[in-house]
Amino acid sequence: MAKKYVYYFGGKKADGKANMKELLGGKGANLAEMVNLGLPVPAGFTITTEVCTAYYENKKKYPKELKEQVLKALEKTEKQMGAKFGDKKNPLLVSVRSGARSSMPGMMETVLNVGLNDTTREGLIEKTGNPRFVYDSQRRLIQMYSDVVMEKAAGIEPAEGQGVRQHLERELHKMKESKGYKSDTELTAEDLKELVDIYKAKVNEVLGKPFPEDAMEQLWGAIGAVFQSWMGKRAISYRRIEGIPDDWGTAVNVQSMVFGNMGNSSATGVAFTRNPATGENYFYGEWLVNAQGEDVVAGIRTPNPINEIGKNEHTKHLDSLETAMPEVYKQLHKIELNLEKHYRDMLDLEFTIQEGKLYMLQCRVGKRNGAAAVKMASDMYKEKLISAEEAVMRVKPEQLDELLHPVLLPEAEKAAHLLTKGLPAGPGGATGQVVFTANDAVEWKKEGKNVILVREETNPEDIEGMRAAEAILTARGGMTSHAALVARGWGKCCIVGAGEIEVNLEEKYFKVGENVIREGDYISLNGTKGNVYLGKLDMMDVDTDNEDLNAFLKICDKVRVLKVRTNADTPSDAATARRFGAEGIGLFRTEHMFYGENSEEPLFLLRKMIMSGTEEERRMALNELFPFIKKDVKDTLEAMDGYPVTIRTLDPPLHEFVPNNEEERAKLSESLGISLEQFNSRADSLHENNPMLGHRGVRLGITYPEITEVQIRAIFEAAAELLQEGKKPFPEIMIPVTCTSRELKHQYSIIEKVYKEVCEKFGLKKIGHLVGTMIEIPRAALVADYIAEYAQFFSFGTNDLTQMGFGFSRDDIGGFLPDYIKQQILPHDPFQIIDRFGIGELMRIAVEKGKATRPDIKLGICGEHGGEPNSVEFCHLLGLAYVSCSPFRVPIARLAAARASVEHKHGEIFNGKKEHKKTAKKSSPKAQKKSDKKKKKK
Ligand code: PEP
Ligand code: MG
Repeated sequence: MAKKYVYYFGGKKADGKANMKELLGGKGANLAEMVNLGLPVPAGFTITTEVCTAYYENKKKYPKELKEQVLKALEKTEKQMGAKFGDKKNPLLVSVRSGARSSMPGMMETVLNVGLNDTTREGLIEKTGNPRFVYDSQRRLIQMYSDVVMEKAAGIEPAEGQGVRQHLERELHKMKESKGYKSDTELTAEDLKELVDIYKAKVNEVLGKPFPEDAMEQLWGAIGAVFQSWMGKRAISYRRIEGIPDDWGTAVNVQSMVFGNMGNSSATGVAFTRNPATGENYFYGEWLVNAQGEDVVAGIRTPNPINEIGKNEHTKHLDSLETAMPEVYKQLHKIELNLEKHYRDMLDLEFTIQEGKLYMLQCRVGKRNGAAAVKMASDMYKEKLISAEEAVMRVKPEQLDELLHPVLLPEAEKAAHLLTKGLPAGPGGATGQVVFTANDAVEWKKEGKNVILVREETNPEDIEGMRAAEAILTARGGMTSHAALVARGWGKCCIVGAGEIEVNLEEKYFKVGENVIREGDYISLNGTKGNVYLGKLDMMDVDTDNEDLNAFLKICDKVRVLKVRTNADTPSDAATARRFGAEGIGLFRTEHMFYGENSEEPLFLLRKMIMSGTEEERRMALNELFPFIKKDVKDTLEAMDGYPVTIRTLDPPLHEFVPNNEEERAKLSESLGISLEQFNSRADSLHENNPMLGHRGVRLGITYPEITEVQIRAIFEAAAELLQEGKKPFPEIMIPVTCTSRELKHQYSIIEKVYKEVCEKFGLKKIGHLVGTMIEIPRAALVADYIAEYAQFFSFGTNDLTQMGFGFSRDDIGGFLPDYIKQQILPHDPFQIIDRFGIGELMRIAVEKGKATRPDIKLGICGEHGGEPNSVEFCHLLGLAYVSCSPFRVPIARLAAARASVEHKHGEIFNGKKEHKKTAKKSSPKAQKKSDKKKKKK
């Protein structure tokens, strides 16, 4: 039997159904479904996406069976509609539209009124008694057809303003002017008839070909143009952005025309089963009397609200369909309720009313913004319309982001001047006046100004200024650079690595090409996209105490397996993270107590400790520091009472803390009882060429065991005091930058000794805790079986693991990453999304080996990837126990973890490694070669 290329829909039964989107496209499948549900749908047929693919594979030739199948389906359509295509007495007109598998709004072509010519129009006039409407339809057909089929599909690219459509529009304008009309509606039937002739002559003149009068020729021309538009520029770029493959192809829907422009009992409209902007559960929509579908979406006339409930300030004086045509409204309302129940989702509907009779032209799952998606998912779950698993799949993690940060007003952003782009390090939007130093940021803020701190790069000394600024923009740095990390932790908008900007700190301006932006000038940032704009753009606020969001996240919690912790360095961050639902701290970076608010004294003591010349001096300084560390740890354990808190021993290279400023140096040397020269020479000796690979992390604890000792004592004493106060602290001590099990063994003996001493001091039998390590050096992953002999847990430090795995400096990647992405050498920034193929493989090995030694080893991640949805999914596949991320990303991680649970088994990688292989393959050298070849072909 010949392959079926054409699917009929009409009457009570259609050949297709809703689940055939791949073959019939979204529109075709849903038209079929509506017919099967007994809804009033104008009959027609769908030509499958396979025809589109075959058309492009066979030098733009159709399969030979197509013609006969189209004719048969057309015959059935004619029978159903009681009219005949091309007939001079009782003509049927059709629309020809595209319909891809996933909606590509406005990206492909449509031709309406196909089948209308000088002969058929007479029959139609007879039938409708409305010559004005018929001539108007004919001139619309000529305008659309000549543009879409005869010009665009033929590959003609006219000069600006010289397209056939513009020529025809000028003719229309000329006629209106000569008659003294202001609007199109004043044109009479006679005028329009004359215009049809003028249009035909113009088409012939501009394109050198007559407009086809033959109905069949029109039909095949329109079908070809739709297939052709699949490879149009607009459609191709849309597919690139949305990641839609070229070989999906589009279907073509040929459907009987019904008319909303046949007088005042006719109308057309677009509606949603719930409000797509807010998610509220009421029928929402717009309609226009005596109009065609395009008029509603084109925005030429202000549409009326569909019902009374949907009226607002601007539309309250307009008639609703509910009052203007109550019977039709009732029928439509019933249909939308049933359709939503049937599809179990919010739908976007198109309808037409022809002389009082309702027709459904389209239904599809409606697009919605983040707030609406969250509300609808939790409402529909409450209404028992969908399951918890379905609810979590209804909201994309990026949509949740919209709810968590204030953003630039989308319309303002569209109209703004894009200055440059950088890496999107901290999501959300911000607008403010440019300042160039941290001090200025603080001072200007005190004066009540909103500022954006622009720096070449940031360092710990900028912290106060970063806190004071609305947002941070840096010329250098990557996604895990200092600025990015800190800003994300605060939920602050931040763009790093904007390589095109040149900062002149002395004269306080920055340049991007020709543009010079001086101190005090306004700029605006979109930290979600990495866009920098000139000027002060309007913003949209967020509601942090969002009930719908909380209800939705509770559904996520029911579904997910992964726990979600936070990276919090202060008690106040810990409290924020608790409000967002964090189930513990996955990384408490001890060193952050030496930056920011109230850090002056502990920082001074730390510096004193660093600059000490002997162990004795160092111990003295450490003893002074001890109460500060203990207090910070205690407050944090308390804020997370009942939840585990992973406290990491000191990690950064010590010389990072040595002050550069003379005054500070003098104060410190005095306090140490040494001369300034002695001080300077000690500071010089601490200098390292490669500090990231230098004297940091566990290496500090090996050379100066007393540093570890004091920290551990502070942790255990803080926990002991809380236990005595009736609290439930649970510290997890984490040793960073480990590369061999012996380092851990060394530190472990210190921990054991201090533990015993503290238990004794407080008269406690036990202080519940764990001791573990970060896996952030590739060697550590490869020898994880040995390391697990001492470590009760592993936490993947994927920032450093990526840095050392790739050999890319996390602070300097901004300089070359854009070229790597542009040239597709890397599929994405590996500091943002875990590179499953390489770094992911190191993680997999570490999990496997760690478990081989210690089957109950606790596994987590605390690198920045822990809050990025694709990486969270990978952690689920690996079977980790938790992810940890900055407080503001906790809700996104909760959702991403839930979505991963719906789609994959926890630890699935180890069940045949299927998923891992699949995702790894995408970024494999082989897959890249293949995609390169494809590109070349084009
Ligand atoms: C890491 O390396 O992933 C990590 C969490 O540690 P840090 O970012 O502090 O180096
Ligand atoms: Mg690290």
